[in-house]
Amino acid sequence: MTDHHVAEADLTAEHLPGDARLSIAELDQCVHCGLCLNHCPTYRVTQLEPESPRGRIHLVRAAAEGRIEPNARFGEHIYLCLMCRACETACPSGVQYGRIAEAAREVLGPPGGPLARTLTRLAFTQLFPYPRRLRLAATLLRFYQRSGLQCRSRGSSLPRSPTSCRRSAPAAREWRCCPAA
Ligand code: SF4
Ligand code: SF4
Repeated sequence: MTDHHVAEADLTAEHLPGDARLSIAELDQCVHCGLCLNHCPTYRVTQLEPESPRGRIHLVRAAAEGRIEPNARFGEHIYLCLMCRACETACPSGVQYGRIAEAAREVLGPPGGPLARTLTRLAFTQLFPYPRRLRLAATLLRFYQRSGLQCRSRGSSLPRSPTSCRRSAPAAREWRCCPAA
């Protein structure tokens, strides 16, 4: 891992494996229409833009351009994605979201520490398969967001507002992207 800040001029990636290379043109295929949002389970539960396909693509583009750091928070948004690809079938622009997410994960490396892995496993096995639990989790999350507790959660692993993605934090790993063809 490195604290390297990626400048726009750095968007070459010859050293990256082929699957980790994205083009800006590929990311620009997303026209932000939002038709994928209601097909995305993580967005439906959290109602947070960074937990949606559109939001994640936006984050990847910002990281590829060096406008944000691919830090731990960035990694959380990328790894909360279930990789179900329901967004791909809903997308009228043919965005290959799965490829974008896989490339991001390739660059980030394995997700967080033991706690993050445990929470992810619990979400997969004990939450997402059960609609009633999902609804309860969504209710609790909305309360958490509206109560002001979210603002005090700096440093925790719980989701915060989209603007928090722009805060500086230790980079997860160097992020680069190849230029548009
Ligand atoms: S991924 Fe597709 S459906 Fe979702 S906002 Fe972008 S263009 Fe629209
Ligand atoms: S692949 Fe990820 S972003 Fe797309 S619908 Fe599934 S959880 Fe949402």
